[in-house]
Amino acid sequence: MNIFNFTKTELEEYLIKNNFKKYNATQIIEWVYQKNINDFNNMSNISKKLISFCDDNLFFKLPKIIKKEESKLANKYLLELDDGNKIECVLMFHDYGNSLCISSQIGCNMGCSFCESGRLKRVRNLELYELSGQILSISKYENIKIDYVVVMGIGEPFDNFENIKRFISVVIDNKMINIGQRHLTISTCGIVPKIYEFADLCTGVNLAISLHSPNDELRSSIMKINKVYNIKELFKAIDYYILKTNRRVTIEYIMLLDINDDEKCAKELAKLLKGKLVYVNLIPYNETSNFTMKRSNDFKIKKFYDILKMNNINVTIRKEMGSNLSAACGQLRANENKF
Ligand code: SF4
Repeated sequence: MNIFNFTKTELEEYLIKNNFKKYNATQIIEWVYQKNINDFNNMSNISKKLISFCDDNLFFKLPKIIKKEESKLANKYLLELDDGNKIECVLMFHDYGNSLCISSQIGCNMGCSFCESGRLKRVRNLELYELSGQILSISKYENIKIDYVVVMGIGEPFDNFENIKRFISVVIDNKMINIGQRHLTISTCGIVPKIYEFADLCTGVNLAISLHSPNDELRSSIMKINKVYNIKELFKAIDYYILKTNRRVTIEYIMLLDINDDEKCAKELAKLLKGKLVYVNLIPYNETSNFTMKRSNDFKIKKFYDILKMNNINVTIRKEMGSNLSAACGQLRANENKF
């Protein structure tokens, strides 16, 4: 079994079941995650019996980086998994720290009409070691500390909820990856029942919602999920998350030319968000040759931004992190597989 596929609790249970002590799990975890030791024989404070057991039953395996595209503000990586499937993640260099955007599934079934990732249907969910392995592989490869993680790459995280829960426990555990919960964000297109479950976990992890439209008619036309959970149901769940956690929710809004970027949409969005503990991230669309949708022009984006501001909505325009990269999420993988 892959050592990176255990949470702390799971490793404790596994070792106890095999007649070792609960604290042995913490010892091993400290060697693996804090001292970067990938050989049980080099773990000097564990017994010969435990070393031999671990050697016989556990191994170390992380996703392999097979391609890297670089720009000044961001790097994009293609990683290969054991079964030959490929995923991608993006490392962004902000003035406040390094932020890694990771994938949660191989492909995605949510079918958002503007999304390169959604064009590649879900093959399978990512396992725990493939989720956390993106952080571990990139930080090791670049020899850097990753300060922030956003689960916003290929896939819908709440469609892989059980592994995302385990992933959260590994990321925020101070003996494991040790990235504070406030530095971890999970982004969903709006699987409402999972938003309630996520809120009930009370982990302090941030929630981001891919909204992209202020009304049901438009949202249903670009995001299939809205036909299952409409905006009213979605905001009931968002309100519940805010009530439960007192955390601000990020509202992601991709700016699509002449689709969702006019004054009417901006005013409608301002009305929808009025008085809520939210913050809007306006995202200039990354055009790809597979879709006819275009990026809103700077004038329209600025106008949209101004309307939200005038209505006292917290809003920013996402900085574009290097247009020479295969920028749209899913694009590097698609290019590699020649879809
Ligand atoms: S935007 Fe997110 S949820 Fe929608 S298809 Fe793309 S990856 Fe899936």
